[in-house]
Amino acid sequence: MAFVDQVEFEIRGGKGGRGAVAFRREKFLPLGGPSGGDGGDGGDAYLEARSRLGTLLDLRYRRLVAAEDGEPGRGRDQFGAGGQDVVVGVPVGTQVFDAESGVLLADLAEDGQRLLIAKGGKGGRGNMRFATPWDRGPRRADPGEEGDALRLRLELKLMADVGVVGFPNVGKSTFIAAVSRARPKIADYPFTTLVPNLGVASLGDERSFVIADIPGIIEGAAEGAGLGLRFLRHVERTRVLLHVLTLDPDPEREPLKDLATLEHELLRFDENLAKRPSVIALSKMDLPEVREIEPELRSALAAQGITLYAFSAATREGLEPLLLELERHVREVHPEGDDPDAKHAVDRPHGDAKGYATDPDAQG
Ligand code: GDP
Ligand code: MG
Repeated sequence: MAFVDQVEFEIRGGKGGRGAVAFRREKFLPLGGPSGGDGGDGGDAYLEARSRLGTLLDLRYRRLVAAEDGEPGRGRDQFGAGGQDVVVGVPVGTQVFDAESGVLLADLAEDGQRLLIAKGGKGGRGNMRFATPWDRGPRRADPGEEGDALRLRLELKLMADVGVVGFPNVGKSTFIAAVSRARPKIADYPFTTLVPNLGVASLGDERSFVIADIPGIIEGAAEGAGLGLRFLRHVERTRVLLHVLTLDPDPEREPLKDLATLEHELLRFDENLAKRPSVIALSKMDLPEVREIEPELRSALAAQGITLYAFSAATREGLEPLLLELERHVREVHPEGDDPDAKHAVDRPHGDAKGYATDPDAQG
């Protein structure tokens, strides 16, 4: 069962700068020797695996990533400067495909692993290179070469950071939709009718994490009733659990009892699940009857040392504190998520934003 975050974009090395045609100006000579310098090489384009990145979200709307073009050569034997490289940060575990052929180019499995994708074009030779004893004033210079260009598809199998568990209709899917900035594509999923809901929650900046709802957790799930077992397998791989409770119309159901049932099912399936950090939340707080039971539930849980988070996906009340709490747990399991550089999915190794050519026709 795999959730796949997938993006496609074109990546290019910078174009080499053209060589210059120029001549030295010397007194008494109408035409001095050739002095046109070479164009600079175009920058190279790389991918780099970074463990602190969790999703491909930052690349979602990118159409083209291009390294900087080389500058043209100039007169007085001056060479053009080389274009800057571009490095695209991707999460560890990203698979890199040639989008056209479908061929797997690399599996970026280690933090810091860097892969040259598109080499920049060589700068053209200036006319000083073409001088020969029988041609002292060549007018010839080379244009710069084009950089390599490739259409890439990146795929990342996502591990859900937060698994949302709860009885049917407690509002799991609605919660995920309310807090998600993007929906990764779900691939290789065996059930078409009961697809887990997956979203990338974001706290406004780049602190994003993946939330999955696990539909169909019901009593008896640990014994394989219905599809429950398959879903529990998925829960097993999440870092933090969010238990969603609410008041159900069925008088047999009661939030504390639901919680006990859920915990029991998870525990029976895998004892380790009990050790997983979990957050308990009461949904649908916009409903008066839910509001009414909230204080009692809160104090019952407080007696067990558990903080209750209450929210409404409908009014968005309480969503932010809940997300912050979830993120805090995700981070505890994932301490490298603290790096402030994580937001720069695409950057220049030398930090110069000038000449950031995303438009192939912008330069050269
Ligand atoms: P799931 O089965 O846990 O995924 O539950 P859903 O998200 O599908 O929601 C079940 C029902 O509860 C739907 O009719 C939703 O419209 C409703 N619902 C979900 N969230 C809220 C909420 O915050 N307030 C109210 N009043 N209804 C909600
Ligand atoms: Mg649902």
